Amino acid sequence: MNSMIEVTHLQKSFGTLPVLKDVSFTVRQGETIAVIGPSGSGKSTMLRSLIHLEDITGGSIRINGEVLVSEGRYTGAARIKAITSRMGMVFQQFNLFPHLTVRDNLELAPRAQKLESAQEIRRRSDMLLAKVGLADKADAFPSRLSGGQKQRVAIARALMLKPDILLFDEPTSALDPELTGEVLQVIRQLAEERMTMIVVTHEMSFARDVSDRVIFMDQGEIAEAGTPAQLFGNPQLDRTRAFLGRFT
Ligand code: ADP
Ligand code: MG
Repeated sequence: MNSMIEVTHLQKSFGTLPVLKDVSFTVRQGETIAVIGPSGSGKSTMLRSLIHLEDITGGSIRINGEVLVSEGRYTGAARIKAITSRMGMVFQQFNLFPHLTVRDNLELAPRAQKLESAQEIRRRSDMLLAKVGLADKADAFPSRLSGGQKQRVAIARALMLKPDILLFDEPTSALDPELTGEVLQVIRQLAEERMTMIVVTHEMSFARDVSDRVIFMDQGEIAEAGTPAQLFGNPQLDRTRAFLGRFT
């Protein structure tokens, strides 16, 4: 299977503070990777680096075979834009446009891109709102939606740009517990459809049931990685066991 993401010896410092220290991993096409680890371990910085919301300070990133950054040297701005435009990201805080309806949140970026007719964009926004169970909310404003509904809109909006890769940074951490299931169900469906995804999450049962592989980050490193059976069933390190112990 193709490598969709190849990260080698990634380093990132903020000033003198090293936040990512020699992080390497590969994500193959169609895989769902769960990233777990304590707060401050560098999970968000790692995700943000993949989509060039952070400038890394060393190492290499290839996306779908294309070099984004090689040994700390970035490719040109136009290439960076082309590469990162194939990726979507969903944030903890949804980041919907409050002054736009749900439908306009979905259609804004595709309309600006001018790659498809208005009719085709409408057909796909209808399809994606139905897919996330919000066909009846097309004309609502975000303020009228629950957190779970907002996050499902954010996922549909990311899908409008036909990404090859979706990145999720704690997509359910801002939600009341009773609303997490409806969001995780949408991500689970995408996993079954073999969307390539990295999901940073504190939902251990989701990581165990849905991901193909789990990465445990601690103090800026990948401390341990493996299948869910390996990582949850037979963790190798004391610090992995200590972290997982917090969730039982
Ligand atoms: P996680 O997502 O695992 O909680 P983060 O990637 O957000 O971890 O943060 C890792 C470390 O980097 C933390 O010590 C955090 O304070 C620091 N950090 C993150 N963003 C910045 C920034 N923009 N400037 C300085 N330090 C930052
Ligand atoms: Mg984070």
